[in-house]
Amino acid sequence: MNLEHLRVDVDEFAEALSREEYLTRAGLKGESRAAAIRERFAVLGEREAFEAVRERALASPTGDQGRRLRYLAEFLGTHCVEYRLRNVSDRIATAEAAKTVTVDGEQIPLRSIEGRIKNTADRSRREALESARLLVIAELNVLRQEILEASHEAVRRLGFPDHPTFCRELSGVDLIALRDLSRPILSRTRDMYQDVLSWYLGRWTGASPREAGRHDLVRLFRAPELDNVFPPSGLCEATEAPLRRMKIDPRAGGRIRVDDEPRPNKTPRAFVATPRIPDEVILVVRPSGGPDDYAAYLHELGHALHFAYTDPGLPVEYRRLGDSSVTEAFAFLLDGLLRERGWLKKFAGVGRPREILRFTAFHKLWFLRRYAAKLEYELILHTEGPGARSREAYRELLSGATLVAWPGELYLFDVDAFFYAARYLRAWIFEAQLRELLRERFDEEWYRNDRTGPFLLGLWRQGQRLGAEELAADLSLGPPSIEPLLAQIAADLD
Ligand SMILES: [Zn+2]
Repeated sequence: MNLEHLRVDVDEFAEALSREEYLTRAGLKGESRAAAIRERFAVLGEREAFEAVRERALASPTGDQGRRLRYLAEFLGTHCVEYRLRNVSDRIATAEAAKTVTVDGEQIPLRSIEGRIKNTADRSRREALESARLLVIAELNVLRQEILEASHEAVRRLGFPDHPTFCRELSGVDLIALRDLSRPILSRTRDMYQDVLSWYLGRWTGASPREAGRHDLVRLFRAPELDNVFPPSGLCEATEAPLRRMKIDPRAGGRIRVDDEPRPNKTPRAFVATPRIPDEVILVVRPSGGPDDYAAYLHELGHALHFAYTDPGLPVEYRRLGDSSVTEAFAFLLDGLLRERGWLKKFAGVGRPREILRFTAFHKLWFLRRYAAKLEYELILHTEGPGARSREAYRELLSGATLVAWPGELYLFDVDAFFYAARYLRAWIFEAQLRELLRERFDEEWYRNDRTGPFLLGLWRQGQRLGAEELAADLSLGPPSIEPLLAQIAADLD
């Protein structure tokens, strides 16, 4: 097997897939044809390629060559699984784009309904929208169950006992240790979360914590009360001005393009497409108003900057593969500007930042609690398989974390492939440690310091050569710890 040919194939495949995903997820194209692309690069989906690379990786565990082989083996392993699922994956992508939900005689595209829920003040109308959405999601669960079972089967065919073992061995992320590290987030923040939740629910949704549902939280975090603080017209300047202050070009010399056009079948979840890293990076958002738009834009801008400033001379493993917690941490660093008093005052023009800090810390805490529960749940799902027990575990764990009635129907929908929830949790932990370092080294308002830019660019240039823990060690941040993360949230909620 020729490794150099394989690396060229990985790059070309990733480019083609990224273009296809951009078109379908941005609502520019109805039918997903990703399976045809996977077939064009069928060699990457062959078990033999994965096993040959994995064998070499296991034989050369240290140094740069070993690391590249490990990243390549992880990609090929997960790709083997995705290859087997290619047709059913296209079917669900196409079905999701085509599905509509009927509420009071009105037909609404499935991908537009979450935006409707966010923007509906009337609680009973919101409930009706949520019920209709859940009905359609439950219908699609049949396909999702098929995908999940096929992925478990594919993992066993590759010689691994189960999905968690497969992910742990290929990524090197100890999922059980991470679950144990994150679990105390739930117990230690329960009281402060409950307090702040009741406060906002009562004032902003009129629902009591006992009767509140997921849709109330969706509405709450849409925060129309803060629309005047975060007008759409101010977004560009507020997000880009601090970058210029740090001596960073927010468009990376034209390598970053922004797609913020509204389209009915555009997915509500913002994302970055990377046809070519670093030369062609597309930031896709679907604005629906309020602080969420700022957060989503900043988050994706963090990814886009990381990719667009990656050293073009790096091998494909470090430009495209590796530990996604690293890029997520840079994304969190930027959306974390919403939790910086000085940014709120000086760049977003907020008169009383304390109120906003409290809200954004609450939002972050909600995410953290949800993902801590999600990791716990996904370990169960990928061991038990789909069915009533997993569904009940999901409902219970997510209700316990969010402290509202959480719908069990989402138990297959709310799952990111290959334990991506673990990448988020590790990224939050690393980002909080990195933020501490930035504050120490470049002042409390590090985002206004022209010395911060070269430091961040130096990190971005490395692509994903190092994993989050390695990068943290490189920066002398100490071992992974939830303390800085919890301390930052508690300070803002105070
Ligand atoms: Zn992200």
